[in-house]
Amino acid sequence: MDDFSKFKCLQCGACCQQDGYVRLREGESDKIAAYLNMAIYAFIEKYTRITRDRKALSLIDKENGECIFLGPQGCRIQAVKPGQCLDFPQKWKFKAFSSICAWGIQQSKKIQR
Ligand code: SF4
Repeated sequence: MDDFSKFKCLQCGACCQQDGYVRLREGESDKIAAYLNMAIYAFIEKYTRITRDRKALSLIDKENGECIFLGPQGCRIQAVKPGQCLDFPQKWKFKAFSSICAWGIQQSKKIQR
């Protein structure tokens, strides 16, 4: 089940609820801050933390562990979401992907038929 060329996000939000960093690449903080109409420093202070390796900024989590930008209607920064989010699941995925991601679940059911 490794053919992700037909991947279509079903907006289940499962990937946004997993443990781990949402690392921001160069220029992404500026883009998101502008989208939120915030000054860059205010955005960094309110919504980011430094990764353990101190090489990047990551978005923070809510208390329940999901991404700070996951809202009831999905990603609140969809138009400018980080490249790491856009790369999922083609370039990376979490363990148990096929039993957590709605599209992954669909695919594994097709394979079982
Ligand atoms: S930025 Fe958006 S797509 Fe990325 S993890 Fe957060 S809610 Fe999900």
